[in-house]
Amino acid sequence: MTAPAEKDALKPSNFLRQIIERDLEQGTYAQRKWAGQPADAAQHGQGQPDPARIRTRFPPEPNGYLHVGHAKSICLNFGLARDYNGICHMRFDDTNPEKEDKEYVDSILDAVKWLGFSWTANGTEHLYHASDYFDFMYRAAEYLIEAGLAYVDEQSAEEMRINRGDFSKPGTDSPFRSRSIDENLQRFRDMRDGKLPDGAAVLRAKLDMASPNINLRDPAIYRIRRATHHNTGDKWCIYPMYAYAHPIEDALENITHSICTLEFEDQRPWYDWLLDRLGEGGLINQPHPRQYEFARLNLTYVITSKRKLKQLVDDGHVSGWDDPRMPTIVGLRRRGYTPESLQLFAERIGVTKSDSWIDYATLEGALRDDLDPKAARAMAVLDPVKLVITNWDELHGAGFLDQCSAPLNPHNPDAGVREFKFGKELWIERSDYEEVPPKGYNRLFPGNKVRLKYGHVIECKGATKDAAGNVTEVQAELVPDTKSGTPGASAVKVKGVITWVAAADALKAEVRLYDRLFAVAQPDTGDKDFLEELNPDSLKVVSAYVEPSLANAKGDDKFQFERHGYFVADRVEHGREGKPVFNRVAGMKDSWGK
Ligand code: ATP
Ligand code: MG
Repeated sequence: MTAPAEKDALKPSNFLRQIIERDLEQGTYAQRKWAGQPADAAQHGQGQPDPARIRTRFPPEPNGYLHVGHAKSICLNFGLARDYNGICHMRFDDTNPEKEDKEYVDSILDAVKWLGFSWTANGTEHLYHASDYFDFMYRAAEYLIEAGLAYVDEQSAEEMRINRGDFSKPGTDSPFRSRSIDENLQRFRDMRDGKLPDGAAVLRAKLDMASPNINLRDPAIYRIRRATHHNTGDKWCIYPMYAYAHPIEDALENITHSICTLEFEDQRPWYDWLLDRLGEGGLINQPHPRQYEFARLNLTYVITSKRKLKQLVDDGHVSGWDDPRMPTIVGLRRRGYTPESLQLFAERIGVTKSDSWIDYATLEGALRDDLDPKAARAMAVLDPVKLVITNWDELHGAGFLDQCSAPLNPHNPDAGVREFKFGKELWIERSDYEEVPPKGYNRLFPGNKVRLKYGHVIECKGATKDAAGNVTEVQAELVPDTKSGTPGASAVKVKGVITWVAAADALKAEVRLYDRLFAVAQPDTGDKDFLEELNPDSLKVVSAYVEPSLANAKGDDKFQFERHGYFVADRVEHGREGKPVFNRVAGMKDSWGK
């Protein structure tokens, strides 16, 4: 067996990588054949040796938008397949006859592609639907009946619940448990043929009603449900249960490592039991897939329950599924997160076997590390107050505009420079002036000198206030011969450097200062309704002035606004009617609660 690609040797190992490496070393799946598509044992047996060294899958139910937790699962499943010369299948788990929503299907496929992954390998699209396997699932159920391993139970739902027992009490056998094989087969066909009403019977596997693992107390595998399925229409009035369907989907697709979240741990013995039996019966390829569980992502200040995210949208707490505060992939994308930053995040949090909370700052940290080397810089004044250079006309003549420049990205001199003007009137941040400076304040106050970044040194002379005491204008004098980048410019020493834009060439822009959607670190975990835990300040819209270089920004372009953090031109609304709109992705550093 070949070792994993060299670059991957640098990736931190984890228990899943160890399992995969062990399987590759031992050649666990090396003899398996692949029919070119999902298939039963007979068809696979006629195929070629499986060209994929491992097969994983990402199996969402098409019932909502994907979120950051799914991103972890996508990066994990597609990432492992990529790293070990495997293939990751994109599978819609649509065994529930609930109407599949095309909106969800499209958004799921988009999200996976956008994150940088593909389910096409060697020209074959590995995009599958669990409902395509209904015929096989039915056949497998008849096989179990014929092998004496399943029976049709006609107890009422209530009787079934009582007879299942609980953690402290073993279950009781159903009176239908000892039916003959022929009778079971007949009743199951009656179920299939619509001769029994919804809920009148279920097909159950025959395991052990006294098992300490309740999942093994004769789990239901088929139920009667008259519903039109988006794929199979009215062909079926019985549908397989998820816990029965999922292992079969994995087996037909030749999945090697079926990775799921921890709450399925107790289902693993059933997963193995079922596939062992179907393997013995010669129905599925051997050796069969194995299930491995990892801890789902819990991210502080974020909820990921689909139902609750939907409530936020439906009740108008956010503007939609792609509101930049939503943890959905469409929301993160609109907020300004990049695929690379989410992949980096997934890599950094790794995979573990125990539940924990990941700090939201880890997500923002990955974003900063991704954008720092690539985002263009720009100056922006988010809470503008006018600054007037009182000796400008005298030094340069009225109306004169000086030309300044700055690197587009200081880490990458090749990226070039951006240019902007300096004139008599500038915009600066309101917080950069204090009439009476607090201790340690070294920006503008009467008598103090500061540098206007990439411009000149100025000395503050005072400010004008309105009747309410708000500063309406700050005045300063330019200190000659201090222009950045000119000889002797640093002869005048200053402690403070502030950002600015010239009134003459600044652009007015709407800036949306997004913050965490929830005010508490672990929302929806205590007694409080999660809606009461929303952060009332999660969005502040300001009218800002930005550098003229941003005139060419296109939706989705990312920037670092110097001193302020990372911003993105809103992919939906930027440029509408000519209006620039920028979203804050994250501040320059983690300052939450500080
Ligand atoms: P539902 O409650 O509707 O089943 P779900 O979050 O389990 O929601 P699925 O569409 O079934 O959604 O999930 C697809 C895959 O994403 C599953 O394999 C699941 O394990 C994984 N997944 C879902 N949520 C998380 C999470 N928070 N962290 C990691 N993986 C997750
Ligand atoms: Mg699920």
